[in-house]
Amino acid sequence: MQALDFPPQDWQTSLKKLVTEPAELLQMLELPLEHLPAAERAAELFPLRVPREFVRLMSVSNIDDPLLRQVLPIGREFDNPPGYITDPLNEAAARPVAGVVHKYKDRVLLILSGACAINCRYCFRRHFPYSENRISGQSKTQALNYIREHTELREVIFSGGDPLVTSDSRLEELIEELSAIPHLERLRIHSRLPVVIPSRMTARLTNILQKCRLQTALVLHINHPQEISEELAAACTQLQRAGITLLNQAVILRSINDQLETQVSLSLSLYRAGILPYYLFLFDPVQGASHFDIPEDDARKLAAAMQVELPGYLMPRLAREIPGQASKTLILGAG
Ligand code: SF4
Repeated sequence: MQALDFPPQDWQTSLKKLVTEPAELLQMLELPLEHLPAAERAAELFPLRVPREFVRLMSVSNIDDPLLRQVLPIGREFDNPPGYITDPLNEAAARPVAGVVHKYKDRVLLILSGACAINCRYCFRRHFPYSENRISGQSKTQALNYIREHTELREVIFSGGDPLVTSDSRLEELIEELSAIPHLERLRIHSRLPVVIPSRMTARLTNILQKCRLQTALVLHINHPQEISEELAAACTQLQRAGITLLNQAVILRSINDQLETQVSLSLSLYRAGILPYYLFLFDPVQGASHFDIPEDDARKLAAAMQVELPGYLMPRLAREIPGQASKTLILGAG
């Protein structure tokens, strides 16, 4: 396997230099241009966005690379089988004010940004109407008022898009405002940005999280062990030293991480980097990505086999989100 190399750069520069043209991605990975017409057509459904640091982790001349498959637009995105819809988790029904998603009793999601550093083809929010539903200006005031008025809330979850696309200054201001709300106890940040651009975990951001009154957890999104770079592991060490809880959630994806060996390797590699496996989600049936789905029974068998190979603390919870339920639905591994 031949690896690409890029000079290190700060995260804002990396965000400005994303690969957005299918032709460039294929050329960088020395892949035949026969894949280009389908990639260009599917990129019109959901644009290609991938940081160069993430491309560096892909193998050259391998169209089946598990990281490439997560980002390369393909013709199968035009498949339209029944049951695969634009809002599979029915989040439209759980948005009391713009930028807030309130699904569960004591915790609430804040949509900080509509942008991501990477566009994952299987994303259940690939059709999400971000322009009307993220916090900024007036909607930020409304969102904070909603949280102040709902005294049953204990936890705020920064979500997106990717919330860490937000600048450190803006994050600091928002975290200070949330810390001043007496009934809040916990802050959780869901992000894939440190995985795809590890330099995002700046010393300043670590410091902001460390000094925050709220107990803080960072939930990363890593689907395959090949995504865990040395730079990410170093960033995780820095966060651990600052007392931040590090968790991971992954999605089971056909031909990417639906094999026992890959899942076991993922859990072990996460632990080596100081991250605990948290959730392994069944695929959410979003339109344009049905080719990533696997039957629920296969997922159960995979989880059952993982339980044999892994200690309990490295076994992620196999779960799915069912719209309208009061929590995630756990699915037990069966023989
Ligand atoms: S929200 Fe997460 S899964 Fe969806 S495209 Fe962004 S980084 Fe990928």
